[in-house]
Amino acid sequence: MKIVRYQINGDAVKYGWMLDDKIGEIQGDIFGEYRRREAKTPIAEIKLAAPCLPTKILCVGRNYVDHARELGNEVPKVPLIFLKPSSSIISNGENIILPPQSNQVEHEAELVVVIGKRGRNITPETAKEYIFGYTIGNDITARDLQKADGQWTRAKGFDTFCSFGPWIDTEFDASDAVVTCRVNGQMRQMASTRDMVFNVSTLIAYISSVMTLEPGDIIFTGTPAGVGELKNGDIVDVEIEGLGKLSNPVKV
Ligand code: ZN
Repeated sequence: MKIVRYQINGDAVKYGWMLDDKIGEIQGDIFGEYRRREAKTPIAEIKLAAPCLPTKILCVGRNYVDHARELGNEVPKVPLIFLKPSSSIISNGENIILPPQSNQVEHEAELVVVIGKRGRNITPETAKEYIFGYTIGNDITARDLQKADGQWTRAKGFDTFCSFGPWIDTEFDASDAVVTCRVNGQMRQMASTRDMVFNVSTLIAYISSVMTLEPGDIIFTGTPAGVGELKNGDIVDVEIEGLGKLSNPVKV
């Protein structure tokens, strides 16, 4: 099933599900008891919002060998985790705004895991039970500020620097899916999720040994090699095979 959050004519944002190009409302709690109404509203008549409301946005750094090397870094021995603020969230189609403090804003195409169940100290063997589904992400990064600061809160935390969506797919198989990033139609990044240093189950176990994961929390699983600059007027598309495409214009 594909889960969305959507709005009609500026009304309150609701959860819904998608069947072909139609949306139906979901009533209740998508992580618990809910009811699906008939999918009858054409997608052209609604505005999609980011598909969930995370209490935490977890990210993993240097989780593809080639990407760690392209920036001159070692591959970490344990997952390297950081957070982005919820104020940085945008949805499919919304503008990425280049901040005046940076001269080097870059895209990072990533597979994103959505947590469906509260958990702490989850084992890799049981991690799948805590996965609600998957979506597509762009972990936008001010690379110059990341290098200058040493820690990453500012570089990764600007408003509009966390794009994910357009939907959550609850049946997606994340074991071997090709992740690509195109800027103005030109290929920049391409790798399979198979190439991750730490797989999704390992990441969930590691992160939940530190903090309680809540339903709706999301984990950006790291980006492949090929990160590059975004300029005013660019269109950046992140696509994951079998999952869909996330597209955002870039503006100053
Ligand atoms: Zn990233």
